Amino acid sequence: MNDENLKLNEKLLEIAKKSLIKNGFEVIEAKNKIEAIEMLQNIIAKDATIGTGGSRTLEEIGFHRIFTTKDYPNFLDRNAPDISSDAQKSIQKRSLTADYFVCSANSITTDGQLILIDYTGNRNAAATYGPEKRIFVLGWNKITTSLENGLKRANNTAAVLNNIRFNMSNPCTTVGYCVNCDSKDKLCRIKTIISRCEPACSAVILFVKEDLGF
Ligand code: SF4
Repeated sequence: MNDENLKLNEKLLEIAKKSLIKNGFEVIEAKNKIEAIEMLQNIIAKDATIGTGGSRTLEEIGFHRIFTTKDYPNFLDRNAPDISSDAQKSIQKRSLTADYFVCSANSITTDGQLILIDYTGNRNAAATYGPEKRIFVLGWNKITTSLENGLKRANNTAAVLNNIRFNMSNPCTTVGYCVNCDSKDKLCRIKTIISRCEPACSAVILFVKEDLGF
């Protein structure tokens, strides 16, 4: 990344952090993936119950590699090998009352709002109510400068790449942008905007100063 982009990212990050704190979130910052995973290991007690939302960002920081070990016996692993769809649903429901729920968001705005788009809404539910502490891990590529731009990013970048990731045959994978389809396999069914942290300080935003996920 060139110097100018780095400076711009630093500036947007500082503005977003101030707004998020004003909106009741805790905000912490890691300089890279390695520091991010170390911070999560310091925050999350080994005996805690831990749920997660599907997230390329978590994959990229190696979250599951650490938290599926025997050091974390109460990790609720929705992606365990050969897991049945009933078992996965049961884990997603148990995650709603976990000690920690860890996920990302599709975009975050400089005025301190988070945007999440989901298929079933399990991530959106746990991200807003239930778990004692929610932790959102975000690369600085997800910062946008307004709610309108945040929604555009969530729809036209995150959702389209998610369709490509899952090899969906929805129109966005052909044209490369969201046409707000009415497809029977439409991935984007639940949209949530978190404008304030409720209760205050029950959610942590962990910014990573790298591009992560989509
Ligand atoms: S609404 Fe439809 S076209 Fe838009 S990103 Fe979602 S699946 Fe693709």
